[in-house]
Amino acid sequence: MNKQYDVILVGCGVAGCFAALHLPDDWNILMITKGNIEESDSFLAQGGICVLKSEDDYDSFFEDTMRAGHYENRKESVDMMIRSSRTVIDELVSFGVSFMQEDGQFLYTREGAHSTNRILYHDDITGKEITEKLLAQVNKRKNVTLLCRTEMVDLLCHDNTCDGILVREENGNLTPVFADNILLACGGIGGIYDNSTNFPHLTGDALALSLKHNIRLQNINYVQIHPTTLYSTKKERRFLISESVRGEGAVLLDKNGERFVNELLPRDVVTQEILKQMEKDHTDFVWLSMQTIKDLDITKRFPNIYKKCLEEGFDITKDWIPVVPAQHYFMGGVYVDLKSKTSMEHLYASGETCCNGVHGANRLASNSLLESLVFAKNAALDMAASKKDSGRFSSSLSFTEKELEEHYHIDLSDYKDLDAFHDKNKQLIWNEIDKENRKDKKI
Ligand SMILES: Cc1cc2nc3c(=O)[nH]c(=O)nc-3n(C[C@H](O)[C@H](O)[C@H](O)COP(=O)(O)OP(=O)(O)OC[C@H]3O[C@@H](n4cnc5c(N)ncnc54)[C@H](O)[C@@H]3O)c2cc1C
Repeated sequence: MNKQYDVILVGCGVAGCFAALHLPDDWNILMITKGNIEESDSFLAQGGICVLKSEDDYDSFFEDTMRAGHYENRKESVDMMIRSSRTVIDELVSFGVSFMQEDGQFLYTREGAHSTNRILYHDDITGKEITEKLLAQVNKRKNVTLLCRTEMVDLLCHDNTCDGILVREENGNLTPVFADNILLACGGIGGIYDNSTNFPHLTGDALALSLKHNIRLQNINYVQIHPTTLYSTKKERRFLISESVRGEGAVLLDKNGERFVNELLPRDVVTQEILKQMEKDHTDFVWLSMQTIKDLDITKRFPNIYKKCLEEGFDITKDWIPVVPAQHYFMGGVYVDLKSKTSMEHLYASGETCCNGVHGANRLASNSLLESLVFAKNAALDMAASKKDSGRFSSSLSFTEKELEEHYHIDLSDYKDLDAFHDKNKQLIWNEIDKENRKDKKI
């Protein structure tokens, strides 16, 4: 690994990839991922990606996003996301992404809290389709070095300026890597929960480091619970039953087979109703029936869900399936402005790691892929526009371990026991979430 790059991208989900593709192709870029290449939540997105399908839909798209977010959204960010959506979709298509079409026209699906169909999709594996195609484009770029199983364990910063990151390489070596700019695109926090639809290695590392280095955070206790994941007693990632299933007409049933909620209300409301029903019925789950979906072959519309449920012993064409809420998405994060700049110089953040205010207190379904792409692109364009500050590393970059520790106020022995280090970071995040929850409840 080189020690110095123009840009370091931490994460190779849609945010990291889209940023890479909008940086100058003669810049030296390092992209790292803690897991394997396909182990990002971007690969898991099922439902789809929102788009402004026509100018007529602007007001309604804006209002749906704000209402779902309890009007705590930053209006300028929502506007930017919606206004940029068609260009971003055009770019995805130019990168080879395919969305479902009929007679040459896009098909749009719908999810909870949307007042119209405005979601583009690819079967029920939209995220895989988008991320694979973006990664294929990144792989063509000779200027991008992509390293898997390589973990950012700390930021190298002083005087509110980020110079680089400390990396734990696959062989266990700790290496300082420097860059003019660094983008945190580390995804969400599902890995700190017992029940989550996220990959377990997504543990909010950027948040823990932000807390450590006094980087501004926002809404760290705004966590979205998805109402419908497949009930299981196994210790593993929870399998999501996409909201578009309900968007197409599936219904939720109590233990007696009676409907108890309007299935298309915002996620937080449906989740609360399910939890109340489970308590009332003394059950660990409620039922989801897809037999109410008419005029659609659900095995073709939802092939991935059909296959997974069959593996677990449920035939969605005949059986009701048991579903339960689980942690799913993180609306809060590292505070950023419209250009995705954090409160620290030379440090950007995008995707689920950041909070640019689009989602307010609750995300509208299928807005997150779009938000990740729009604001990761903004980060890259801002880095490209700001003249490279090449003088900033004029002094020697070859630190001894002692010099590195002194200059960046770190202790290299902190990262020796990785499990203890991860536990400490998780605890840091939980403490902050609890603190904010207490403030909100004014306890
Ligand atoms: C099951 C599921 C279904 C979803 N469905 C939809 C949907 O239909 N529509 C929609 O819009 N959104 C959906 N979402 C949400 C959406 O997928 C995510 O919000 C989005 O993909 C986040 O992208 P990202 O690039 O920010 O993060 P991710 O794609 O999660 O990528 C994070 C990257 O950061 C890396 N990383 C993390 N920590 C470190 C570290 N310390 N060092 C190095 N690398 C690190 C990870 O290895 C990974 O490469 C869904 C999410 C899930 C879990």
